[in-house]
Amino acid sequence: MFPFSYTRVSDVPAALAAGHRGGRYIAGGTTLVDLMRETVERPDELVDIDALPLRGIAATTGGGLRLGALVRMAEAARHPLVRTGYPVVSQALELSASPQLRNMASLGGNIMQRTRCTYFRDVSAACNKRQPGSGCAALDGYNRTHAILGTSDACVATHPSDLAVALTALDATVHLLGPDGARHVAIGDFLLLPGSTPQHEQAIRPGELITAIEIPAHPRPLASGYLKVRDRQSYEFALCSAAVALHVRGGVIREARAAAGGVGTVPWKLRAVEQHLIGQRPSPALWTRAARYATAGARPLRHNGFKVELLMRTVERQLRVVGGGM
Ligand code: SF4
Repeated sequence: MFPFSYTRVSDVPAALAAGHRGGRYIAGGTTLVDLMRETVERPDELVDIDALPLRGIAATTGGGLRLGALVRMAEAARHPLVRTGYPVVSQALELSASPQLRNMASLGGNIMQRTRCTYFRDVSAACNKRQPGSGCAALDGYNRTHAILGTSDACVATHPSDLAVALTALDATVHLLGPDGARHVAIGDFLLLPGSTPQHEQAIRPGELITAIEIPAHPRPLASGYLKVRDRQSYEFALCSAAVALHVRGGVIREARAAAGGVGTVPWKLRAVEQHLIGQRPSPALWTRAARYATAGARPLRHNGFKVELLMRTVERQLRVVGGGM
C-alpha cells in the first residue's frame, strides 16, 4: 500500500470543500479500496462521505422516485416503492455482486464503479483507461468479455453496473452538487463513451458529489424486469443483460423502455427496439422482430462474436417475460 490521508466528513459543505481540494469521495468502499490495493488507483486523500444525509427513498411530487446516493444496494432492492413500482431496478440490484457487497455498496458508488477489464486491473498491462496513451492490451488480447457496442480504438471495456442498465432503460437522472451549485444529468449523458479519452468515464466535475438518482414518472401499469446472463449463477458480471419495461393499455404497447448491459462500453439504450415496439400489439413474433434491432452497430472483437447472437436472444427472452408469450 502507499500513504494517503483519510478524512471523515459529516456535512455536505465540508465534503464539497474536501472534494474541491482534490479529495476522493468514498462511501461503501467496495470498489475504490480494491483498486487501491492493486495500486490501480492511488489517491492522496480519501474523503469518507458515508455520514452525509444522502439516504432515503421517496416518491417525488411528479410521480417518480428519488433514491438517495448513499442508500445501500440491498436496502434499495427490498424497498416497497422499488419492488412494486420498478421491479427492473430491484432485480438488477439483487443480481449484482454478493449479499455482503450489496449490504455495503451505495447506489452512487455503484454507477461510478470502474470496469472489470482484467488488463485495467493489471498494472503491468497497457491500458489507456488507467494510463492514457499507453495502448489497449485487450484489443489484441483475450477479449471474450469485452464490448461490442460503443467501442473505440482506445478502449473496448464494458461498463460493469447492472443498476445503471436498469436506470438507463428508465431514463433516470443523476443529481449532482458541486462548487457551482446543483444540477442534474440524464444517465445516458452521465456515463461517457470512451472515444479517444477512456480515462474520462463520467460527466462529473471536480469536487462534485452525487446526491441522488431520480427515476421519472412512468404511466401505470408498468411491467418490468431484468435478465442477466453470466458464466456462473452468482457473484459474476454480465456477459449480457437486458432491462425491459412496458406499458400496455387496450392491448397496445403505449410505452417501451429497454437497455442492455455487458455488451456496451456504457449501458446500452435500445432506442430502435423501443421504437419498434410502441404502437404494436404484444406477440411472440413482435418480440423476435424487435430484438433484431438490439445489435445495430455491433462491432465484435476476436473472441466475443458470440455476444451478437446472445444480445438478440437475451432481449427477445426478456421481452417475452415482461410482455407475455413465455
Ligand atoms: Fe484498458 Fe479499456 Fe483496453 Fe481494458 S479495454 S485494457 S480498460 S483501454
